[in-house]
Amino acid sequence: VATVDDLALSAVVDRLDHGVWLLDPNDGTVLQHNAGAAAQIGAPATDLTGLRLPDLVVPHLSVDGWRLLTQQVPCSGAHRVDVAMTRHDGSAVPVGLTLSNVEATLPPPGAVGQRGSASVIVAVTVDLSAQAAANERAAGEHELLDRALDAVADGVAVIGRDGRVEQANETFTILVDLPHEQLVDRSVFDPPWSWLDADGAHVHPEATPPAHTMRTGERSSATLLLPGTGRTRAAHEHVPAEVSCVPVTDLRGAPNGAVLVVQDRSEVRSWQERHDRMASTDPLTGLATRAYITDHLTQVLAAASGSDELRVGVLHVDLDDFRSINDTFGTTFGDAVLAAVADRLRDLSDRHVQLGRVSVDEFLVVLQGAEASLAFDTRLRRLGEEIQRRTEQPLLIDGLELRLTASVGISRFPANARDAAELVRAADTALTAARREGGRHQLRFYERSLDERTRTGLALDRDLRRAAAQRTLEVHYQPIIDLRSGEVAAAEALVRWHHPEHGPIPPSVFIPTAEATGAISAISDMVVTTVAEDVATWNVENLLPPGARIAINISATEFEQRGFVDRLASTLDNAGVSPSRLELEITETLLMRDMETTAARLTQLDELGFLVALDDFGTGYSSLSYLHTLPLHTLKVDRCFVTELGDGRSETITRAILSLAQGLGIGTVGEGVETDEQRRFLLDAGCDLVQGFFYAPPLPREAFERFLRDHVAAPHVTLRAV
Ligand code: C2E
Ligand code: CA
Ligand code: CA
Repeated sequence: VATVDDLALSAVVDRLDHGVWLLDPNDGTVLQHNAGAAAQIGAPATDLTGLRLPDLVVPHLSVDGWRLLTQQVPCSGAHRVDVAMTRHDGSAVPVGLTLSNVEATLPPPGAVGQRGSASVIVAVTVDLSAQAAANERAAGEHELLDRALDAVADGVAVIGRDGRVEQANETFTILVDLPHEQLVDRSVFDPPWSWLDADGAHVHPEATPPAHTMRTGERSSATLLLPGTGRTRAAHEHVPAEVSCVPVTDLRGAPNGAVLVVQDRSEVRSWQERHDRMASTDPLTGLATRAYITDHLTQVLAAASGSDELRVGVLHVDLDDFRSINDTFGTTFGDAVLAAVADRLRDLSDRHVQLGRVSVDEFLVVLQGAEASLAFDTRLRRLGEEIQRRTEQPLLIDGLELRLTASVGISRFPANARDAAELVRAADTALTAARREGGRHQLRFYERSLDERTRTGLALDRDLRRAAAQRTLEVHYQPIIDLRSGEVAAAEALVRWHHPEHGPIPPSVFIPTAEATGAISAISDMVVTTVAEDVATWNVENLLPPGARIAINISATEFEQRGFVDRLASTLDNAGVSPSRLELEITETLLMRDMETTAARLTQLDELGFLVALDDFGTGYSSLSYLHTLPLHTLKVDRCFVTELGDGRSETITRAILSLAQGLGIGTVGEGVETDEQRRFLLDAGCDLVQGFFYAPPLPREAFERFLRDHVAAPHVTLRAV
């Protein structure tokens, strides 16, 4: 109630000549006092807190006497008694003691007890011996008050005995949106500003706190709105305000106007509103929050648990590679993307479907149904696919066209979980597994067997990120040999991880996990940096044969990240290495995903001087159609063809691929050459380069450098096959 007791007024209070005391209602212990109080009893600016006011009064008030006095203090209004107070020097000073009972927020600990709203007694002591002098000073005090008032954060108006505004501070003029001169002398019974209620309806001035206080001599307060007048804000821009009015008495205690305090609550209110809505609605997307959707799920499950027919499904939807949108375009843009995605999904929710955003780019969808489990699964799948379809429509934001993809993990109740938490976790597990196995645009149902895989996956992921950050991953180099000259034409950089507990873990185990979890970026950064540094060293030492290049494997998820090319280029730039020294190995899967974007990016790389190789050719959706449209430099024939070369069909295919590439002017690498037979076949079929254990396994840097030296010195000598 008592906003006037707030700190805002304490500045004013401190300048008053009157003694103002906050007292414990029980025994009159001083909780707080102003400077005037100390001055009155001639105490140096001492802290009087802890003393009992009844002890300072002559005649001494007993505890019972105090109680009697204070119990008579009405809830509002004030008591006044004339007493004497003992001054510090032993003399007595006659004072008018006014007691009133207010609800106040106590100051923080240190000063008094704990903070909290409590009923306290406010005592105002007026030095009666100084009455005449006080009267004289009144004018000067007015000026002082003016200045004090302007320093106050709240709007304060001093209302005279006749109900007219005598004084108003600047905040007050802002809140009522009227200049000072239009306020002074205007009556609070017919003010130049209007008061509105919470619904925006006009409130009659008679029904407002200042009128009430002026009529009854009681303090009063209300929450009202103040519309603008067009001076600093428009009429529809209402400022919610806590309006309080306290009566003022003259030195004899007779009513002498009031102080009107208007506190701007717009911050508080909009915070409250936001807070209320926030509990259930995500402010960015307007979708339900995690708290809300989880709560909803719990309720739905409670209903379903009591029934044999009801089924509940949870879809965990995650935008693929959203992070790179934020990284590249900034979070404001990212937010716009999320809001747009939410707009597309919003109307999926109905009586049976609830939709919520649970983290930056993740959504949780709860579906209820009563059909047979197979039919329900079908509905879940359809819903998941519909969400993917809607999410993957091109988005136009700030003139930029974006194509997103989404992955979905699905879990079902009662089949996969007993409670909401388990069900949500199961959907998440399915999502992670889907990502790990397939990358983007995945949809997968939860199965129990995924749990174990996920657990190990999570631990690995954590260790892997750490290893990449600390650069404890190693890069090995496998030489790639020119079949005809026997010289080292290139080398493939292959990452190696020696786990502190589990020992060496092959990339075929951790790379797919890293792709699913995003740790691949850290790995890739580390590999590229290491290779760039090594190449720079080799350049200085003249170790790499002219034209030789280092091939780096680029995961699809990495390749598709915005900013990937820039990062790559700048890393090389920092190391002072030319892009033509690098060959990026990408896989066919990438070409199948988003041909347009991939083609554009390949062209960009090509223009920057990077070489691009198509890795593992023949394993994926092998399509030869794009070979001549894309700027590819090299085709790497997958190891499985080479391994199965004894098989006639494999030989035919391999020959076909090699001659096609030759016809298109694309270089070829035969992978996994382990025997001399394989080498000879490939040479005969027109393959350019080979790589495999027959020549050398992937070698640690020092071993690879030795290998290079030997070959530069005498290319043919160390080659077993030639
Ligand atoms: P990949 O790109 O096909 O790499 C060639 C793989 O064949 C390497 O396996 C290499 O050690 C192995 N290899 C080479 N010659 C022979 C041979 O004669 N016989 C047999 N049996 N194998 C041979 P590795 O190092 O285990 O890598 C496996 C896969 O992991 C790579 O397949 C690549 O897809 C991925 N990978 C490795 N390093 C990286 C990296 O730094 N980044 C990314 N994104 N992926 C990587
Ligand atoms: Ca490769
Ligand atoms: Ca390969």
